[in-house]
Amino acid sequence: AIQLLGVNKWYGQMHVLRNINLEIAEGERVVVCGPSGSGKSTMIRCINRLEEHQQGQIIVDGIELGDDLKSLDAIRREVGMVFQSFNLFPHLTILENCTLAPIWVRKMPKKEAEALAMEYLTRVRIPEQANKYPGQLSGGQQQRVAIARALCMKPKIMLFDEPTSALDPEMIKEVLDTMVMLADTGMTMICVTHEMGFARQVADRVVFMDRGEVVESNTPDELFGNPQTDRLKLFLSQIL
Ligand code: ATP
Ligand code: MG
Repeated sequence: AIQLLGVNKWYGQMHVLRNINLEIAEGERVVVCGPSGSGKSTMIRCINRLEEHQQGQIIVDGIELGDDLKSLDAIRREVGMVFQSFNLFPHLTILENCTLAPIWVRKMPKKEAEALAMEYLTRVRIPEQANKYPGQLSGGQQQRVAIARALCMKPKIMLFDEPTSALDPEMIKEVLDTMVMLADTGMTMICVTHEMGFARQVADRVVFMDRGEVVESNTPDELFGNPQTDRLKLFLSQIL
């Protein structure tokens, strides 16, 4: 479970997260949407401590994120993240990209790490790409490698920050299908995305952010079908 309690963050003078209160239960799938600059990336980056918040509490699976390295270490093991740009290591093969962290961070024997990586590459339906380099794969394939790589660390929680927005339209579906497959396993997921079809299909809850605030949070049907605020109505009129 993830709890954000009265979380505030500033970049210099700019107040980018304003008193965020959000609780996400184990196994819950949450989609975060909102206009550009509303703080979506900042919020999920705070959850795995890529960014620090200045006020309030963030508690991930019972661990409060603080200044100590122990909490940082624990969070990085439990929380996997997939970004808009795939961030694969270009000089390592697909298999090596997937086994690097399990071997060096989790101290997993190489053979075991490779078997695990092949299992996840099979699940994202690209086992035949294992010995190629990232530059030899399509964008959709690279993003599926990024998902498999995150899963190889056996995270309890997966964060996605617009994983399909850098992809050509014909590749979006294969990545979304992979995320639906993952949602079906009961993984706790937070996905920043504007793919409203995906939100309707898998989200237990959709959170709408605007100007650093959580403005509405509801089931997909309610949030899209019955928006309560002018800000959400405006946003929906622009994207749907
Ligand atoms: P988008 O939909 O465009 O990805 P977002 O909702 O993810 O937007 P954030 O990236 O979280 O928005 O940014 C929130 C605000 O914080 C924006 O005003 C942005 O300019 C600012 N910001 C983000 N990162 C930094 C940074 N490293 N330094 C200073 N300001 C930043
Ligand atoms: Mg963003």
